[in-house]
Amino acid sequence: MNLIEKIKTVNDFNFKNKLALVRVDFNVPINNETFKIIDDTRIKYTLPTIQKIISDNGKVVLLSHFGKPKGKRLKNYSLKFIIPYLSEKLQKPIKFSKYCIGNTVMKNVHELKNGEILLLENIRFYKEEEENNDFFSFQLSKLGDIYINDAFGVSHRLHSSITNTPKFFGQKKGIGLLMKKEIQSLKKILGKGKKPITILLGGAKISSKIEILEYIFNKVDYILIGGGMAYPFIKEKGGNVGDSIIEKNEIFEKKLKKVFLKLKNKTNILFPTDVMIADSFKNSANTKIVSIDSIPNGWRGLDIGPNSIKKFCNIINKSKTILWNGPVGVFEFSNFSIGTKSIIKAIVNVTKHGTFSLVGGGDSLAALKMENCEKKISYLSTGGGAMLESLKNKLIPGLKAIISL
Ligand code: AMP
Repeated sequence: MNLIEKIKTVNDFNFKNKLALVRVDFNVPINNETFKIIDDTRIKYTLPTIQKIISDNGKVVLLSHFGKPKGKRLKNYSLKFIIPYLSEKLQKPIKFSKYCIGNTVMKNVHELKNGEILLLENIRFYKEEEENNDFFSFQLSKLGDIYINDAFGVSHRLHSSITNTPKFFGQKKGIGLLMKKEIQSLKKILGKGKKPITILLGGAKISSKIEILEYIFNKVDYILIGGGMAYPFIKEKGGNVGDSIIEKNEIFEKKLKKVFLKLKNKTNILFPTDVMIADSFKNSANTKIVSIDSIPNGWRGLDIGPNSIKKFCNIINKSKTILWNGPVGVFEFSNFSIGTKSIIKAIVNVTKHGTFSLVGGGDSLAALKMENCEKKISYLSTGGGAMLESLKNKLIPGLKAIISL
């Protein structure tokens, strides 16, 4: 049994008469004027965890962050907007505490009756949350008998309520059902799923994704590299990438060289061959299709070209397990969205025929939404960064904290 299989879940506890301190990730996109929730995936996936505790006749204390108030009590970052949504979904009144530590919240917690739910104010109103602070974490630990982490989206961070608070619970800690689903989906990608297994990485956050390649190249059958991710490699191979997006700093260049040397002769890592280039970074720019290694100066690659689309889709079509993170072009501009739209179409199509598809990362989810395809994917990850960190095949800090005593 590996470490992950040893992790207790919410189903391993009986919460009768017990206080469950549940770290959730209610950091959802909202309309800034109306406070209406635009995408409720993160909350929806965590409802079964809350329902399990309630059905045991336990008491639930919900702890979450929202946005980046950076330790300040800012009205626009209050979690109050979640109350009507939660109340409707759980068919229960939701109590609310303005505080996460101190006498008031302790009183609120002790007044909770079995089956009741208390939502705490944004944990990031306290600067200590992002400082992995011992005393703050200890104070938080007073809010529950059992600690449950169901906040996958933030579990790659060293934050007090994620990595420090659990240590005060001994064996009385576990993960929620959202977290369990994320782990199970990732396991399929990391070798347990049906083969061929394919990972498609694109996007613009190149430095955070480049290291992942070292970990996954011998675990999956194909790696497709698109979007901004491709250009540093083409340049390293000696190609001319014009003004295409490339990070220019010493640390990145060192990292790139190391990864490039390791992966140089691997035949399962595929790059675009042709790209659509533009003479400026706007939708109305002049465009041409050229070979990816012959981009003139003054021009930049903003989408993959027709031959590359064909090549990538052929691989997707024969894959039985697929992970996708990062668009293959600047899909926000309609003229450079053809590559990303074609990839989505191919993934949706194979999913229909039984392939397991996992998509993560804010922009990939936004692209799926744009195409009305978010319901046609096997699993939408609730954490882009956490998903990528997990691909390094190490336990992310939030999970490690649940395993350690
Ligand atoms: P990420 O957060 O790493 O998934 O990056 C997503 C962003 O990458 C999107 O906003 C895309 O517009 C951008 N992107 C994709 N391809 C390119 C490209 N060739 N050049 C510049 N930006 C790109």
